[in-house]
Amino acid sequence: MTEKLVEINNHNFIIELMYADTKQNMTGKPVYKEIGFGNKALVHKDLWNKLEQLIPWLEEHKRKLKIFDAYRPPLAHEKLREVIPQPGFFAINPATSPHCRATAVDVCLTDENGNELTYPTLVDAYDPDYATEVQQGKSEAFFEYLKKARHDYEDASKEALHNRRELKSLMESIGLKALPHEWWHYELPNGREDDKYPMIK
Ligand SMILES: [Zn+2]
Repeated sequence: MTEKLVEINNHNFIIELMYADTKQNMTGKPVYKEIGFGNKALVHKDLWNKLEQLIPWLEEHKRKLKIFDAYRPPLAHEKLREVIPQPGFFAINPATSPHCRATAVDVCLTDENGNELTYPTLVDAYDPDYATEVQQGKSEAFFEYLKKARHDYEDASKEALHNRRELKSLMESIGLKALPHEWWHYELPNGREDDKYPMIK
């Protein structure tokens, strides 16, 4: 661990790391709990400096930001990869994942009671049936479904599209970068630079 990490501990943020529990977890394994890491959202202080800028908006709009993943210990990454080794899920080298550098978060907005808003998919495109298939090594149907996780996917309800766009403009307004294929993932624009943000063990 390092002094560069900040634990998110603020009532405007809900911490339910997907890999610390099993209820919305594509791998079905509470790996963060298994390695003793628990349900803790750690981020690089540069990322927290941006996330905390959301607080006035969240309070004004009676929303909370739910965090599904933040810093991912490399050991946890390796264990997740043992469960789902197929390409397209967990990078072979954890050092390439911005989560292992604490420069990325997986998020959605909720109402003031913590109910997730509607999006084209759940975070991580979680679905219990696909999760079972993927854990058995069958990922073809899931990858087809994963098209719904893209920012350019338009065949969803008006409400889901509105919520996805609102989240994107909100996160971009604090200087975070979206990935085209995962509506829930946001990272520091330079968060993959080896010298500035190396993997944290
Ligand atoms: Zn992510």
